Amino acid sequence: MTHIAVLGSTNMDLVAFVAKAPQRGETVTGREFRTIPGGKGANQAIAAARAGATVSMIGAVGNDSFGTRLRSTLEHSGVETDHLRTTEGPSGTAHIVVDDEGGNAIVVIPAANGTVDHLAPGDEGLIASADALLLQLEIPLDAVLAGAQAARAHGVRTVLTPAPAQPLPVELLNATDLLLPNEHEVAALTGRTDPRSAALALLEEVPEVVVTLGSAGSLYAARGTDPIVVPAPQVTAVDTTGAGDTFAGTLAVALAEGRPMPDALAWAAAAAALSVQRAGASESMPYRSEIDAQYT
Ligand code: ADP
Repeated sequence: MTHIAVLGSTNMDLVAFVAKAPQRGETVTGREFRTIPGGKGANQAIAAARAGATVSMIGAVGNDSFGTRLRSTLEHSGVETDHLRTTEGPSGTAHIVVDDEGGNAIVVIPAANGTVDHLAPGDEGLIASADALLLQLEIPLDAVLAGAQAARAHGVRTVLTPAPAQPLPVELLNATDLLLPNEHEVAALTGRTDPRSAALALLEEVPEVVVTLGSAGSLYAARGTDPIVVPAPQVTAVDTTGAGDTFAGTLAVALAEGRPMPDALAWAAAAAALSVQRAGASESMPYRSEIDAQYT
């Protein structure tokens, strides 16, 4: 079975739904509050597990009740958590206010995720045994770089989602096999708003780039070939939270199974299209049988 390792964040999303977000100094009464397990690392891990891979999560949760729930959510989704450490102190949280127009304001407190600034004993061996390593930027860059370089040293494909957008050290780009930004992130990385031209510019540092384009699908660029656009299925989206993470986790599984890039992109697009038709982030992610039924 395909084995995917994920080195990244776990967060509890604390979401308040209000008609209108409060201004500074103001108190408003909201409609609903929900705690939703998330974090880009955990979300990509769940997407890959549901897409049919054996998945191992490397990261940290706190020794609070959120940490217990974050770990059990991963385990219930079939993600192996032996390398998910429990640290003294709180788990990572994201404090989200969602208003009636669908706008949001978010404060992220990394907490336990901030302690993941190096590889722990055993992490490198786990990475070496995987077919691909998924990375994002919600843990300290030092660990992301160490993970990417460990994977590179063992010939394991690295897939980096550069979110939240920030300047990246050239060593990290050079240890990345596939960079997977969305339109906003690719513009932040390159200063170019046209995804095609931005992707081509990034090929100086990484061999393959996939830019996700929301309902327009994705653009694939590789050295020595013309970029291609793979469309997304036309669906009615109700909640696009986690679409990019669904796409990343599913794409990694397809590539690790040896499928050619255009097929892998279409399969990931089928999975992401299913996820946007349902509410939620990880709970909206499709299982392999559903992806295969959608993929034509
Ligand atoms: P992110 O979620 O990181 O902002 P995107 O918005 O680019 O990333 O979405 C990631 C992928 O999810 C897209 O490449 C596409 O396959 C799928 N997707 C997103 N929105 C839609 C939509 N409205 N209809 C169909 N597919 C979508």
